[in-house]
Amino acid sequence: MILDFAPCEEIHCQFRNNQERNHLFRMCERSVVIIVLKPDYTDEQLQHICEKVEEMGFRYELSRGVQRTVLGVIGEEEELRNAPLQAIPGVENVLSVLKPYKLASREFHQDDSVFELGHGVKVGGKSMILIAGPCAIESEDILFEIGRAVKDSGANVLRGGAFKPRTSPYSFQGLGEEGLKILRTVGDELQMPVVTEVMDPRQVELVVEYADILQLGARNMQNFNLLKEIGSTDKPVLLKRGMSATVQDLLMSAEYVLAHGNKRVILCERGIRSFDSSTRNLLDLAMVPNSKGCSHLPIVVDPSHATGRPDLIPKMALAAVAAGADGIHIEVHSCPEKAMSDGPQALLPGQFHELAEQIRSLAGFFEKEVAPTPQVV
Ligand code: PEP
Ligand code: MN
Repeated sequence: MILDFAPCEEIHCQFRNNQERNHLFRMCERSVVIIVLKPDYTDEQLQHICEKVEEMGFRYELSRGVQRTVLGVIGEEEELRNAPLQAIPGVENVLSVLKPYKLASREFHQDDSVFELGHGVKVGGKSMILIAGPCAIESEDILFEIGRAVKDSGANVLRGGAFKPRTSPYSFQGLGEEGLKILRTVGDELQMPVVTEVMDPRQVELVVEYADILQLGARNMQNFNLLKEIGSTDKPVLLKRGMSATVQDLLMSAEYVLAHGNKRVILCERGIRSFDSSTRNLLDLAMVPNSKGCSHLPIVVDPSHATGRPDLIPKMALAAVAAGADGIHIEVHSCPEKAMSDGPQALLPGQFHELAEQIRSLAGFFEKEVAPTPQVV
């Protein structure tokens, strides 16, 4: 049975006008249900079901299997939901097959999404990203020192937080706009795209001025106003999984961004809460092939926040590559004991160098590549 969905090209571009946007939203309202016929249905019943489905204004595809016969019925989601299909004689069951997320789903877009992040760096398909940098931006000198080291080791995206979501209000909250300026300066000097977290819808305009990629942190994964706001920008988004979020919750949050016109969403697995306090969080690596099975969006794994332990980060980073990740996100600091945030989980530049080499060769084994950024002298 071939089910025909909205044209795929549409999801790679920003909407040019409202008409285009409305068209896409209308396409998204289409849905599919499967009617499973009773094993002993008669030809008359089948004919009657087909006529009824057409009378209701739906399209259908018939599939006669060895064991069972089913009809794929396509129509407006709301109308399908209310149609009394189950009541037609010969029908055994009616199943809804379209996921609650649509633009994020593989049914909607079968190929992996691949897109640009800046300075020629691409993510998705065969292109892997290696995001590295300190948890928080502390000063231009420190960021430059770390940035230069991670770039020399092969990182192609520089990270650093200017607005930090800290559990305690007394902890360092980040340098704010001053931090954003530093990040931009260092990113430009090193010719690397930069990613930084935005925590509040009111900060979006400011962060967009300085960042190449907007990070939406775990604590804000279901901040729907923030999702809508970043969905209205033209910056790629690194969407981190909430600590208690299911894969479906994550994809629904991605759907918010996509539905507001921003097609460049990168998912990020950063560990979920568990009962075991021996690691900071529990890294859910199965979610990588799991989410890639149901979604075309690229996915990055962050073993730094997932484990919180430098002794575990390298092995988990390599396991993430083997699981099919499109990128790895690592916190690095030149002097972790002086770091103003997340020092205990930071890798030293030398440790990162060794790991980056291993990531590159393992990526090659899976026919993926971590593309270098332009060389600077
Ligand atoms: C971070 O990237 O520094 C961060 C706070 O991440 P998370 O939202 O995954 O905790
Ligand atoms: Mn951190």
